Amino acid sequence: MFVPADALEGALKQFFGYDRFRPGQREIIAAALAGRDVLAIMPTGAGKSICFQLPALLKPGLTIVVSPLIALMQDQVDALVDNGIGATFLNSSLDWETARSRQEAILQGEIKLLYVAPERLMGESFLGFLDQVRSRHGISGFAIDEAHCVSEWGHDFRPEYRQLQNLRHRYPDVPMFAFTATATGRVQQDILQQLRLNNPHRHLASFNRPNLYYEVRKREKQSYGQLLQAIRAQKGGSGIIYCFSRRKVEEVAGRLQSDRIAALPYHAGMSNDQRSENQNRFIRDDVQIIVATIAFGMGINKPDVRFVFHYQLPRNLEGYYQEAGRAGRDGEPANCILFYSPSDIHTIEYVIDQKPDEQEQRIARQQLSQVLDYAEGIECRRTIQLSYFGETFPGNCQGCDNCCNPPPLEDWTVEAQKFLSCVARCQQRFGMTHIIDVLRGSKAEKVRKYGHDRLSTHGIGKNRSVDQWKLLGRSLLHQGLVSETSNGFRVLFLNDKSWEILRSQRQVTIAVPRRITGKAGTRDNERAMVAELLFEELRSLRKQLADEQGVPPYVVFADSSLRAMAQQQPRTLGSFGQIPGVGEAKLKRYGSLFLAHIEQFAQSQAPEPSSSSFGTDTQQFTLQLYKQGLNIPEIADQRGLRPTTIIRHLGDLIEQGASVDIDRLVSPEHQAAILDYLTQHGEQSLTLMRECLGEDYSFDELRLVRGKWRIMSGK
Ligand code: ADP
Ligand code: ZN
Repeated sequence: MFVPADALEGALKQFFGYDRFRPGQREIIAAALAGRDVLAIMPTGAGKSICFQLPALLKPGLTIVVSPLIALMQDQVDALVDNGIGATFLNSSLDWETARSRQEAILQGEIKLLYVAPERLMGESFLGFLDQVRSRHGISGFAIDEAHCVSEWGHDFRPEYRQLQNLRHRYPDVPMFAFTATATGRVQQDILQQLRLNNPHRHLASFNRPNLYYEVRKREKQSYGQLLQAIRAQKGGSGIIYCFSRRKVEEVAGRLQSDRIAALPYHAGMSNDQRSENQNRFIRDDVQIIVATIAFGMGINKPDVRFVFHYQLPRNLEGYYQEAGRAGRDGEPANCILFYSPSDIHTIEYVIDQKPDEQEQRIARQQLSQVLDYAEGIECRRTIQLSYFGETFPGNCQGCDNCCNPPPLEDWTVEAQKFLSCVARCQQRFGMTHIIDVLRGSKAEKVRKYGHDRLSTHGIGKNRSVDQWKLLGRSLLHQGLVSETSNGFRVLFLNDKSWEILRSQRQVTIAVPRRITGKAGTRDNERAMVAELLFEELRSLRKQLADEQGVPPYVVFADSSLRAMAQQQPRTLGSFGQIPGVGEAKLKRYGSLFLAHIEQFAQSQAPEPSSSSFGTDTQQFTLQLYKQGLNIPEIADQRGLRPTTIIRHLGDLIEQGASVDIDRLVSPEHQAAILDYLTQHGEQSLTLMRECLGEDYSFDELRLVRGKWRIMSGK
């Protein structure tokens, strides 16, 4: 089937309201339209769905979408229907009557996309139904979502997926489109084979997620307070907080609730009902935050998760990538912060030690060390993550803490020499804790028992804290400058590089953690703040509409659409239709309602006509805040400007004739005295005025009243 290039763009706008394809989408869609098989490996949020939805709409016949998760189907279908597209799903959650009438609609040709669970699809009676569909309307394709489920090597094998290969035998001419976000070569191979894909168009996207900001923070002793502060800095966006254990999940969720943050727990120890209720309340924005173990996530399709925090170290890096990757599926900026304390290592090691199988333990240890590479790494976080997926990333991403704010490197060669010679003096038979004890001059029983209190290195490291020595020790290990046994005792021993250090042939630099301020990208841009207010307003309108329809808010509009509305403030249906994410159906359904709200908002924001024509935007914004009753320091604080700048704004506005009530800033007596003075002496410099009037009068007061006088006297 041939579709001219711009026709595809036109269809994208018409059905989904987007102007441009994301990388890979257009090629996949073209291949699908040409009747080819497809294997697309794209990270979460890359926009897989449109790749099979658009061909389904453009081709005659029905497209079958195989999806493993019932909750996910519902959401996808809701979103399609909201775009005015004939879509439905069939799964075990439906009663007979409903299922029957949906099948009827399909036979009538009203449906372009049908979502089914694999076990349903492969039932003989259902295949019979499909045969009927084929002879009446044709089947335009099978889209296999989460295709990695066919592979035992993937993290989510589902035996039912194995039967999908029978589709190939039964419908050899119908193209198959396989989609997944799981990357390993082994899984890809399996998908190709199991689904019998025939010379497919392959798309392997980069696993880089440019809109995610990655950061690792040292978890402090008062870690809950630190977490709370980080949450508050996210300005109310939806977020997931991952914890290691159920107990921690309950604890954190409980504390957040008592701090009046809408949060719910989620872990495998809860009943199914409770879990799905909490999940739904999160998806529908009834609560801001879900605190969860890794049990939460698979099938969470919520596109507007604005942050994912790991309160404790994750067990492996692939898991971390997938969990953090649940943020920002909509392509909007989102924050992924890992709070890391070295004490996490012991917790995970304890779990590893409980594993019965030695091979499993080895794998788990290796995974732990990869996670530590990430957490303690001083390179670009993306470089570390992507290298794990076999991708080389050049670094300098400007979207991670190490790139934006490189950790200071310090030369710790001398400390390293002390540390390593202590390892040597202790006969290379002890672990890090003991070495540090000796360095710090401990008189502990164990130190005395081995006579280590008599070593020349005993007490030579008192100048550094235990934590600092640990930092050094781990960094040496991490950089391969000292070794440790893997027999479970972690005995330190010297390697060639260690000896080079001891012989002063090699220098040691380590990254020392800096205190991280909780700055959350505050923009002192007034337009941005106004847009933020409108965004909040539109968000609550969206929530209301979504609740009325019983769908998640993002089905109504994505965050990015609301943001564009807030920034552009469209006033006509025509310009509303230009907003990304507004297609024909949404324009009809929501256009006037949103326009009315935007109009209303704009009016409530407009400064009074008497002063609106004066001053620059930034001065106007200051004035708005001033009129809301904020005092100078408050305005300065909110806008991130200096108080004198705020005063200058007001002074300039007064001189331009804006009505500014300065009684709040200058007492009536002072005003009278200054006006008197100026009337007698005429225009004067502020310094001269102050010399004459005295130190009681501040420059700010003089400036403001002089502005008033200039206007009054027509200067
Ligand atoms: P995936 O299944 O790959 O995780 P989705 O198909 O759910 O991703 O898409 C993620 C988000 O990106 C959705 O909100 C979707 O509407 C949006 N999206 C997809 N394609 C585009 C596009 N071309 N332009 C703008 N947004 C898009
Ligand atoms: Zn980076």
